[in-house]
Amino acid sequence: MVSGFNVIRAKRPIPCENDAVNLEQALLKYFGLSSFRGGQREAVEAVVAGRDTLVVMPTGSGKSLVYQLSAMMREGTTIVVSPLIALMKDQVDSLARRGIRATYINSSLSSEEQARRVEAMAQGQYPLVYIAPERLRNRAFISALSRTKITLLAVDEAHCISQWGHDFRPDYLQIGAFREELGLPATVALTATATPEVQDDICAQLGFVNPTKVITGFARPNLVFHVRHTPDLQTKYRQIRKMLGAVKGSGIIYVGTRREADELSAMLEAELRIPAFMYHGGMEKNQRAFNQDAYLKTDNAVMIATNAFGMGVDRPDVRFVLHYNLPGSLEAYYQEAGRAGRDGKLAQCMLLYAPQDRNLQEWFIENDAPSQMELGFIHKTLTARAKDGLTGVSIDELQYHLKMFEVKLRVGLSQLERAGVLNQEGRGQNTTLYRVNALEESHLKFIAAEVKVRRSHKHASLEKMIAYAETTTKCRQQMLLAHFGDDSPVNVKPCCDFHIRVARGESHPIMKRTGPPPPKATVLDTVSETEALFKTGLSIREIAAQRGLVPSTIYHHAARLVEEGRLELRQLMSEELERQITKAISEVGSTEKLTPIKLLLPEEIEFGQIRCVVAKQVRIQN
Ligand code: ADP
Ligand code: MG
Repeated sequence: MVSGFNVIRAKRPIPCENDAVNLEQALLKYFGLSSFRGGQREAVEAVVAGRDTLVVMPTGSGKSLVYQLSAMMREGTTIVVSPLIALMKDQVDSLARRGIRATYINSSLSSEEQARRVEAMAQGQYPLVYIAPERLRNRAFISALSRTKITLLAVDEAHCISQWGHDFRPDYLQIGAFREELGLPATVALTATATPEVQDDICAQLGFVNPTKVITGFARPNLVFHVRHTPDLQTKYRQIRKMLGAVKGSGIIYVGTRREADELSAMLEAELRIPAFMYHGGMEKNQRAFNQDAYLKTDNAVMIATNAFGMGVDRPDVRFVLHYNLPGSLEAYYQEAGRAGRDGKLAQCMLLYAPQDRNLQEWFIENDAPSQMELGFIHKTLTARAKDGLTGVSIDELQYHLKMFEVKLRVGLSQLERAGVLNQEGRGQNTTLYRVNALEESHLKFIAAEVKVRRSHKHASLEKMIAYAETTTKCRQQMLLAHFGDDSPVNVKPCCDFHIRVARGESHPIMKRTGPPPPKATVLDTVSETEALFKTGLSIREIAAQRGLVPSTIYHHAARLVEEGRLELRQLMSEELERQITKAISEVGSTEKLTPIKLLLPEEIEFGQIRCVVAKQVRIQN
């Protein structure tokens, strides 16, 4: 489809390829830097020579420079595919300060501005053009490419292409086909986190033949890795207090859910009086951006966040990263923990581990994709809306209609697309135009097989994560490096809690497991436990104290029990209180957000109480 490139006049001198002096000179000339960092020169040499190249270098090591300098050393235009739309402007601005004319084309721009930049690209005005992967579906863009001389394709955050990576993005899958359409230009794929399996997958998906691999190792010698056994909330909080007392400077606490983020930030602010900021997917976009910015600008601040926070966030002086729960894989853990100590100074990475954390992760794995019934439901809805087989879909609107988690819905749409049930015909600012075909049994089988393979892979990744958390005899740094296929010995001290204990002459295991393994409680069991305590007549606060949980957690359980008809609302509040809350709900007219309802009520009425009244209403409606 894309063919017949025009040769454009060289605007930059063509260097003698592989000429070391020239590379140093170019580094100084374009970027004002006097020397390469480890791996950069090898990577630039390979890319400038036109070889397909895989670059695996740690976060903060300077991967951008590899394609930016290569772009300056080659004629024509370099296309950089990156998922980080929010960072493109910064990159382009910082290149502009160096006198390099780069641009980005993404959905944050008006359509007129996009068209203007696409045209300027076709005229060869930019040596570097940043795009998000979804741009590859845009017809105007693709057709403009046929008039552009593309000499290099750079795929940043390349692990997103692999279903085995921890941050798979379906849109990345089309890069391989796009590359083929472009006539296989020299391509460089860059990532900080890729196991040997993911590295192979990246090369295969991009169609690399005999690629040059520049893998500088994964070691982060200034990071000290710890795991603490924290079977309940009190021990978790104790460890957090200890960490905050022992480590000076800023930190990040990763939590598993939005609710935990709320609870922990309330605890830290009330009890410890330190600036704590919050970031999770359920917050308004502007609020998230505001909090991120405030965190970056505040000394000795703590960010409490779900894994929605962090990619591309550049705060070099993070002194600790604490994981409140078990992440799903070592890749995810290492990437998040690796946000500590980017300035090269000593930093601590601590995982709080409770064996029952496994349940939440297993729940995530089993619920990461829609069931066949849900797929059918999505398909039925789209079919009913389609005119002449075509329908425009906005995720927000469809999510509202189907009452399905956003991730599940996105996964469902991409599965239907890959199975050939949906074909993308175009894309607007917030909508995608789909052609809807019939959903057959064979499609469902195809999708089910795909899900099965992915899930079993995720279960295996979780087991490795658990093995890391439970080890009592191994160096944690060494385990992490080995996971990424890096066998180099760890020679730094301190490296991890195991070796700190060895050095102190302690060799008993770090994690003593007494008695039989913990019961495999499911998320439901914890609610049942609360139910049993309600039956004994205990109040919310008494149950919280008995179970070592905070009252808001017990309220969540209570709301679920009320919704399922297993608990009477009257056991939780008086008729008068219920009446007041019901009145506030009807004044607001929606239960989607609880804050506006709370604002209408006396201050002492808690979110949990409102939640329970809402639960009763849901029960009545059903
Ligand atoms: P990565 O993408 O690998 O996480 P970046 O490309 O964002 O890292 O680079 C991190 C920082 O390192 C940037 O501020 C960049 O300017 C700087 N940097 C890159 N290469 C060099 C170098 N050779 N000398 C000094 N600083 C460098
Ligand atoms: Mg980068």
